[in-house]
Amino acid sequence: MVGAGYVGLVSGVCFSDFGHRVVCFDKASEKIAMLEHGEVLIYEPGLNAVLARNVEAGRLTFTTDLTAAVDGADAVFIAVGTPTRRGDGHADLSYVMAAAADIARALTSYAVVVTKSTVPVGTNRKVAEVIRATRPDAAFDVVSNPEFLREGAAIDDFMKPDRVVVGVESDRAKGVMGDVYRPLFLRDFPIVYTDLESAEMIKYAANAFLATKISFINEIAALCERVGADVKSVAKGMGLDGRIGNKFLHAGPGYGGSCFPKDTSALARIGQEHGVPQRITETVIAVNDLTKRRMIDKVLDLCDGSVNGKTIAVLGVTFKPETDDMRDAPSLTVIPALVGGGARVRVVDPHGAREGAALLPGVDWLDDPYAATEGADCLLILTEWNQFRALDLKRLASSMTHARLADLRNIYDRADALAARFIAYDGVGRTPQA
Ligand code: NAD
Repeated sequence: MVGAGYVGLVSGVCFSDFGHRVVCFDKASEKIAMLEHGEVLIYEPGLNAVLARNVEAGRLTFTTDLTAAVDGADAVFIAVGTPTRRGDGHADLSYVMAAAADIARALTSYAVVVTKSTVPVGTNRKVAEVIRATRPDAAFDVVSNPEFLREGAAIDDFMKPDRVVVGVESDRAKGVMGDVYRPLFLRDFPIVYTDLESAEMIKYAANAFLATKISFINEIAALCERVGADVKSVAKGMGLDGRIGNKFLHAGPGYGGSCFPKDTSALARIGQEHGVPQRITETVIAVNDLTKRRMIDKVLDLCDGSVNGKTIAVLGVTFKPETDDMRDAPSLTVIPALVGGGARVRVVDPHGAREGAALLPGVDWLDDPYAATEGADCLLILTEWNQFRALDLKRLASSMTHARLADLRNIYDRADALAARFIAYDGVGRTPQA
């Protein structure tokens, strides 16, 4: 496994749990050093336990020596990052290509080189070219095997996937991939075998579709606020239609995370490059930006037009609960705007501080929601961690200077908030003051 980040580490750990022998390699030697001591830098529920049992069983090891990792491997997975390239919105493929060249130099016998990273259509053929150019004598096939796991539920998603997608063009490589995923195949999880380009496209199309659902409901939410509808009821009524489904219809402060923002941006660029603009995806991106900025206005409105000199307690900064991932989180748009507007911001997040401290300068980090709200002028809920779902609203309101609640995940009811003596409540897609 080349790259031991969220995807590489979870995949490596789960493959070893399938019974395979797995070696995880990463360029970041400090990451490997920690893993060798059984320490995991990222927060992912359940990961530590599965990792520990496979290390103990001798199936899972970590190394900074790529040659040793690749030597004799049947399959070498590329799971390095593909962030948005600065300036043009494209996926930055430099890590993937560097990994491909490094792997090529390390190959000692036939191996399947599998791209797990999310990469634009055509990348796997470029990976093959790089390997061939670096090592004309190497025996290999390339395979596209995009990953669909969700952070926060990654182990379960990997072990019980809706489907596994394998883009493959040789029987030999197909055989290896069949062996790698046999435990899932035996338990009847669907495996979609297809060509390289289709596999690459499935990943982008799936993520863009999910992002579309989110931007769609967020735009409907904005309209609900004007017409007196409640987006929670609207989403429920829509989602019960089996053709629509209830997932990804939760109105909120906009999508974030390591995938949707960069993958929608990359798909839009791929479309433009091929003369087939992806207008829906382009609009989804624009709506998401508007949604995040709309959240700033909500807080300003609640605070009588200005946050200058006011104290705001923020619950949650990670892009969703059960992860420490801060990449493109809505908090990174909302909080700097509040700090810039002169607010004193106190933040509570069960796992966000490690990454968030550097990304959110000028805020105070606290551990306890009740301490954070003491004397505050507004309480802002940005991430719906379980520990924020059942707070004592009365206790919160009574300790605040001005008990205003901006519930950007709709986890409380306006009536309950007002009954607990909050003086103002605003959610997303709920008529103000209704
Ligand atoms: P990450 O940043 O957590 O991890 C990437 C790792 O690759 C880092 O540890 C980095 O040090 C290492 N690396 C970079 N270049 C390397 C090289 N040449 N050799 C060895 N290691 C190298 O990224 P991630 O979130 O795991 O994402 C990896 C890929 O998987 C991306 O393409 C992403 O789009 C895709 N993906 C991510 C998720 C997710 O939820 N995070 C889900 C599905 C797919």
